Formats: sequence, C-alpha cells, structure tokens
Amino acid sequence: MIKTNGSRTTDNGHYLLLAILLFLLLSPVDASPLSIPDITVTPSTFGQGEVSLVTLKQATGQPQMIWLGKRIPMIYNNSNELWAGFIGADLTTDPGRYKLQISYANNAEPDSMPITVRSKDHGIRRITVPREMVELDHDTLQRVLREISTVKQVFMRSSEDPLWWGRWTRPLPGTIVSPFGCKNIVNDMERSPHSGVDLKAAAGTPIKATNRGLVALVAEHFFSGGSIVIDHGGGIFSMYFHLSHISVRVGELVEKGDLIGLSGSSGRVTGPHLHFGIRLNGTRINPLTLIEISKTLE
Ligand SMILES: [Zn+2]
Repeated sequence: MIKTNGSRTTDNGHYLLLAILLFLLLSPVDASPLSIPDITVTPSTFGQGEVSLVTLKQATGQPQMIWLGKRIPMIYNNSNELWAGFIGADLTTDPGRYKLQISYANNAEPDSMPITVRSKDHGIRRITVPREMVELDHDTLQRVLREISTVKQVFMRSSEDPLWWGRWTRPLPGTIVSPFGCKNIVNDMERSPHSGVDLKAAAGTPIKATNRGLVALVAEHFFSGGSIVIDHGGGIFSMYFHLSHISVRVGELVEKGDLIGLSGSSGRVTGPHLHFGIRLNGTRINPLTLIEISKTLE
C-alpha cells in the first residue's frame, strides 16, 4: 500500500512537472505582461481615437514598438532619462485586446504586453453649409479626389527618424468649438467623423507648430482651405486647416512653437477657427489627448 501510494505520489509529481513544462511551452507570450518591470504604458487601456504614452527605462540601442502592424521608433528623452513613444487607436479600430511588442537593436527577444482598446462614443455634430459645398459638380469632385490622394501620399512618406521631442504643445490657446471624433451630419447627411479638433480662433490668430518637424504639405484645398501638414518623423503628422495665411514652405524644418501661419475661414467652414489634427502611424487620434499625456516628457 505504502509502495503504491509512494508510486502514485511519484506519478503525480511527474504529471505536475509535465503540466508545468507544457504550460511554459504553450502559454502565449502576452500571458505575462507584468513581468516587464521597465515598461510603462499610460494609460494601459484607452478608447478609439485616443493615445497612450509608452516609456522604457533601459535599452541597448534604439528600441522600436510594433503596434497594429506598424513599427514605431522610440526616442530618448533626456529630462527624465526614458525612452518614449506613442501608440494610438483609430476611430474605426475594433475594441478588444491587442499585442504591443517592443524590439531592441541588439536583437534580444521582443517584449510583449496586452493592451485593451475600448469603444468610445465621441458624440454627434450637425452643421449646415451652402448646398454647393456638399453637392459637388463634376470638376469640383475631381478636384476633391485629387486633393484626398495628395494628402494620402503625404501620409505615406514619413521621415523614418523621429524629429519631434518632449511634450506636444497647442498651436493656439483657443477653446474647443467642435470636439474630435464626433459623427459629422452635414445638411442631414452623415459624412466622415471629425478627424481633428476645432479650436476657437478669430481670423488672423498666430498658429504655432505643435512640435518639431518638416513641412510636408502646403496647399489650398476645397474642404480644408489653406492647409499645412507637418511630418514629425516616426509616423506622426500634424495638420492645420482653414488658414488665411501660410508662412512656411514645403521641406522647411520648423521648431516647436514656430509661427507657421494665421487662422482664418478658408475651405468648408461655418466661421473662422483652426482645425487641428494629428495622425499617428495611420490612426486618427485626438490631438488634445496627445498634448495631455506628453506633459511628463517636458
Ligand atoms: Zn474641424
């Protein structure tokens, strides 16, 4: 009996060892997110159209994040001695759990952790504009299609190395007149959601670059009027629309806070304001959340 019991104990011990071994072999990489003490994601859960700051204490060589199929380079932030980068979810990213990976230049195994994207309701905006601004004639439609294609091409050619640094800043102090992400109902028809935030700005208010970058587009477009797109490198772009005056040229390097133009009411608008947008590795995110979470970078 004792022998049998002993033998059973040994068998159980074998099963236990086997179970542990199988667990270690078969468990998915992202099952142990809390075992990465040096990585902080703030916030670790965020909504559609929002953004999160990822910081890393130590790395040999420049680390890169892999998020939603894109490689995102991190930058070294001297003031708090951290590597930093942003991950965002588009307005149309399905809510759920996604894997954030961080890879290192020394080819060490990438770290991996799960990130939850929540569904977010950004509300509805109804505006009424003259009929000719929504019912486009053939030539205007062709023009708008060309302009959409031009902007798309700009977004495909980001400088690989980040040009931005530290915190992101407001292009002007104005209050919000129309929030980011809301469903757009224009003359009772649903259009694309609002891809930026509209900030109150009397015509002629100075507009400043939100961060360092290269001017990637200067244009007079049908919907966005006097428009500037700045490429901040590493897949981040900022947009400034409806300007009355533009004081930069394509290819120019602008520093954070540099004057780039004056606000106005050009394009399809109901009054003077600045439309300010950020595109982060192909996702449309709320620029004000980027400004808020980047405060710690200084
Ligand atoms: Zn807008």
